[in-house]
This record gives sequence, structure tokens and C-alpha cells, in this order.
Amino acid sequence: MEPLKLFIGGEFVDAARHKSFATINPATEEVITSVEQSDEADVDRAVKAARAALRGPWAQFDGAKRQALLWRLGELISEHSDELALLETLDTGKTLFDSGKIEIPFAAEVFKYYAGWSTKTHGTTTSSPTALKCTLREPIGVCGIITPWNFPLMMAAWKVAPALAMGNAVVLKPAEQTPLTALKLADLSLKAGFPAGVFNVVTGFGDAGQALVDHPDVDKIAFTGSTEVGRIVMQRAAATLKRVTLELGGKSPQIIFADADLKSALRGALTGIFYNKGEVCAAGSRLFVERSIYNDVLSGLVEATAKYTLGDPREKTTRMGPLVSQEQMDRVLSYIDKGKAGGAKIAIGGNRAAHVNGGKGYFVEPTIFSAVTNEMAIAQEEIFGPVLAVIPFDNAEDALQQANASRYGLAAGIWTKDIKKALRLAQNIRAGTVWVNAYNLYDPALPFGGFKESGFGRDLGQAALEQYTETKSVWVDLS
Ligand code: NAP
Ligand code: MG
Repeated sequence: MEPLKLFIGGEFVDAARHKSFATINPATEEVITSVEQSDEADVDRAVKAARAALRGPWAQFDGAKRQALLWRLGELISEHSDELALLETLDTGKTLFDSGKIEIPFAAEVFKYYAGWSTKTHGTTTSSPTALKCTLREPIGVCGIITPWNFPLMMAAWKVAPALAMGNAVVLKPAEQTPLTALKLADLSLKAGFPAGVFNVVTGFGDAGQALVDHPDVDKIAFTGSTEVGRIVMQRAAATLKRVTLELGGKSPQIIFADADLKSALRGALTGIFYNKGEVCAAGSRLFVERSIYNDVLSGLVEATAKYTLGDPREKTTRMGPLVSQEQMDRVLSYIDKGKAGGAKIAIGGNRAAHVNGGKGYFVEPTIFSAVTNEMAIAQEEIFGPVLAVIPFDNAEDALQQANASRYGLAAGIWTKDIKKALRLAQNIRAGTVWVNAYNLYDPALPFGGFKESGFGRDLGQAALEQYTETKSVWVDLS
């Protein structure tokens, strides 16, 4: 692949200091291509281009025009879905099935969903004999969007689409490990006809993200990433009182009751932890199982996990690809060691899968720990890999108490045929999303985001629109 450039003011350009970095295929450890590395000067150029766009033709676009552009971009994503899926798979190690059949189509849907809101977002009026009082919903301005490596295009779509639908201009900083689809999105935004500077992409490292957070002319930061970096973003954004929304980490509980449909629950538990190699913010990484069925569930999980095929994520037979990077693999393996040292037992897996793909790639065996207690590091800290902790519980109250005993609150799953029990738990679990007899399902119309240290603000749904508009009150005297 040819080296890739930054996208600023509607053009692909070199970084000011002509630095670049390699992006790696985690299945082969080979370089895919090099990408320009932004620094403060490039971020400043991108912010200036975005600001200029807000004063240009974009400001004259009404909702109907924005709607047409967003819809067109959604169509273009669908038309280029094979190429986008391949880029995503090469960059992240996720299977071609997941990128091509689930995630790229979902990104396209999100653009189409927010296309519709472009023409349906408005303020309110109240009037009296002596005054007309109304509110206007205005774009916030320049939105800095910072995304992680696990769902590169999808996470970008969740934020870029509502930002553009509401008339903002965007500077996107994708994760250093996975810049490819963001740059392809830039190309498609040109084809769709967005005016120059409305959408910009600055590839690079954390310092480029930091420059965006610190920039005095950025009005809002929408961040998805780790809780650790989220905390820094919030602190730094205070200097300029930027609007901030944070979608952060999780350690989400799944709860299986003895009265559940066990076949579905097992499937839900497995995809809950092993989808995208466990590199999922909402991964159901703590599995609570009612004590009377604990052994049956554990053996069912082990039996199904033994059938997972690891390999090149482009192969149809591959169920699980490599982790995104050497760093992530090392991190996951160190948590597995911590689990063992802390007294948990490996039910299956527990090693680097060193013989897969000719010995190349960052493959880790899907791993299940039993004999876990909720206080252990592997039950409290986000591992972000294919590692499941299975923990017994005695009754609904115990399950609830253990599920909530976490600093995170992103998602939860409940498996039972007893609707009252399910709904009582759903009301009391402190998490932004609760799935009942399902897991890991998303709808562009359903908000997603965290409680507690999983962050605040919501992506998706009507809820996200609030976060990309300012409300202005106008009072017109009629007396
Ligand atoms: P990360 O290290 O926090 O990085 C996220 C993004 O922030 C990257 O683009 C990163 O750039 C950038 N960044 C790093 N330091 C920065 C700084 N000081 N200021 C501004 N930006 C900075 O997270 P990650 O490792 O990419 O992704 C994994 C994490 O994301 C997990 O914790 C996961 O739970 C979370 N996540 C949450 C959600 C959700 O919706 N709640 C969704 C997906 C992922 P570099 O890539 O150059 O470091
Ligand atoms: Mg990172």
C-alpha cells in the first residue's frame, strides 16, 4: 500500500515535520504501510481548517443539505464495504466476517440514521401576549474526536455522524494502531461532497490527541478510549472549559440464573467475551453463574471454547484473530499470569497461541478462569482480551451486589426466564446498557455509554444530539 497522508482542509497533505510511522498487520507482524505523524503544528492546521469551514459554505447548508450529504456518505461506506472491511481486518486483526458483515455495515447505518436527524432537530417556542420566546439548537463549533483501536470506523461513525448532522466541523484523531479506515472515510467524505475543512483527519500518537484537547479553538472533545486517558482528557480540557464526553472502559457482568435457557446463555456468554478477541469495551468479562449450575455452565463453556479456531482473520474458517498489537498481547498475558498467581484456576487456554499462522502474529488462546472471586485483579481490572472470569453466586441479591461491586458501569447481561427477576435486576444494575437474554447488540437509535468510571455522555440515538449542539434562548419583545 502507498504511504498515507493527513487529511486537512479537503486535501491529503504531509505532516509539517515530515515524520511518519508504520501501521502493522497484527496477524503477520508485517508493515502494512506508513502514515504521516501529526504534531501540534498539524493539529493547529486542522483546527484552523475546521474553523474556516464553519465560516464558509457549510454554515449556509440547511438540514436538508446536510441530510443528503450524510446519507450519501452512508451509501458510499456500503459501496466500499469490501475495501473498508479488508483495511479494518488488516489493521486490527478482527475477522473479515466481523468487519465486513457487522461493523462496516453498522457504520453506514449510523450515518444514515443521523442523516435523518439533520432535518428533525429543532428548538422549542413559548409565547405570551408580550413576548415570543424560543430556543435555537446551534452547532457547538469545532469538535475534536479521539478514537480507540478496537472498532476504528464504527467508533468514528458514532461521533462524526451526529457532529456533522448538527452542523459542526470535525478533527478526528484515530488510534495510532489503526489509522487506515479513518483516512478512507476522509476520501469518501470528499466523494460525498462535504465542503473542504468540514471533516479532517490527523493521524498520530497520543501527543496529537493531547494537542487537540489543549487547543484553545477546539470547542468540544468526544473521546472513546481507556479510563486512564479519559481522566487526563477531562483534566486538560478544564483549562479551556471544553465540552467533554467520555466513553471509557468496562468490566461488564453477565449473570446466568439456573432458570435461563442455557443454550442461549452459553452462546451469549461466549460471544460476550470472545467477540473481537475480547477487545470490546462492553465485553462481558465477569460471568456470574448461579451456584447450582456453575459446573455445568463451566464445562459447556470449555467445550465450546475448545472449538474456537484461531488464524489469519481473512480466512473464512477463522473464528478469532490476533490481538491488535504486541503491547496488547503482553498486557493480556500479564493479566493471565496475575490470575494464576492470585489463585484462580485456568479452565482452558492461558497461553500465547504460538503455533498459529506459522508462528507469526499476536495470538492469545481464548481463556477461561474458574475459582475466581470478584475481588481479584482479573475480576476488577479491564483486561481487554479474550479472558473470562467465571464466578458463582447464591441468589439474585448476591448477583446484584457482586455485579455492582466494580468501578466501571458500562454494560450488563441477564439470563433468566423469570421476567420479574430480570427487570428488577435491570433497574438496579448500575450500567449504561442492560441486555436481557441477549448480549452485545446495538441499534443506531439506542444510546450507548457509561455509568461511574465508564464515562459520561451517550453515543447513538437522539441522546447524542444534545452533545453536539448548544442551546440558545431568544427573547423577542412584542409589547
Ligand atoms: P487509549 O490508549 O485511551 O487511546 C484512545 C485514544 O486516545 C487514542 O487515539 C490515543 O492515541 C489517544 N490518546 C492517548 N493519550 C492521549 C492524551 N494524553 N490526550 C488525548 N488523547 C490521547 O485507548 P486504546 O488503548 O486505544 O483503546 C482501548 C480502551 O478504549 C479500552 O479501555 C476500552 O474499554 C476503551 N473503549 C471504550 C469504548 C466505549 O464506548 N466505552 C469503546 C471502545 C473502547 P494513541 O493511539 O496514539 O495512543
Ligand atoms: Mg493506546
